[in-house]
Amino acid sequence: MSTGLENCKRCMLYELADKAAYQSVKNYIDALAPEQRIADEEYHRRLEICRGCDMFLAAMCRKCGCYVEVRAIRPDSHCPKGQDCW
Ligand code: SF4
Repeated sequence: MSTGLENCKRCMLYELADKAAYQSVKNYIDALAPEQRIADEEYHRRLEICRGCDMFLAAMCRKCGCYVEVRAIRPDSHCPKGQDCW
């Protein structure tokens, strides 16, 4: 049955119908030590920048090929467009 979210171009993984992919990413994030995770406020700020980016497509960054929810969680990670983006 279609949920209508399979083709959502502006959705994050947690909003898409592919729950197995989301669970895999969530498990990865949940397993990170606190020092390996950016603060929640900064994480959500990064994700909203991605959501508005022309390289963002259905939870993925077309510039690097990553799920943005994975790329954005690490404190030492930056947008592949450059650090002035996030
Ligand atoms: S990581 Fe950067 S280039 Fe990729 S979607 Fe997010 S803002 Fe755009």
